Amino acid sequence: MNITEVRVKLTEAKKNRLQAFCSITIDNDFVVRDLKIIEGYKGAFVAMPSRKLADKCPKCNSKNHLRSRFCNDCGAKLNDKRALGESGDESKGKFKLYADTAHPINSKCRDEIEQKVLAAYKEESEKAKQPGYKPPAMEVPDLDFDEDNTNS
Ligand SMILES: [Zn+2]
Repeated sequence: MNITEVRVKLTEAKKNRLQAFCSITIDNDFVVRDLKIIEGYKGAFVAMPSRKLADKCPKCNSKNHLRSRFCNDCGAKLNDKRALGESGDESKGKFKLYADTAHPINSKCRDEIEQKVLAAYKEESEKAKQPGYKPPAMEVPDLDFDEDNTNS
């Protein structure tokens, strides 16, 4: 696999752990958007595009994010431990609120993506320090980001 282009759009909020949105082009042919660069405890890392997991309200069958405590549609109180699964035990590690929509299936590929994306991020960050910096035109998803979307 060849990553032929990386685009980086830095986020405005410097205090946020979300540093940038990225897109990568593979073999000049295929684009994956909405990768994120997140400042972690051990430095920046790349998060794959993901979607929020949802489940259905037992009363009205509407879909709600696993974090929701009340149904968005009918307002019924939802079991706020349901994301924890059977055990209902928060201490049993991180429960899943997100699922990656595109991701590498081996560490070689993951490393390659991470290296290229982080290099492009560094470059863009340097450029951003120059006067008259113009951020690249790039569509970014709605800022619907939770701090806990950090699966590394
Ligand atoms: Zn409902």
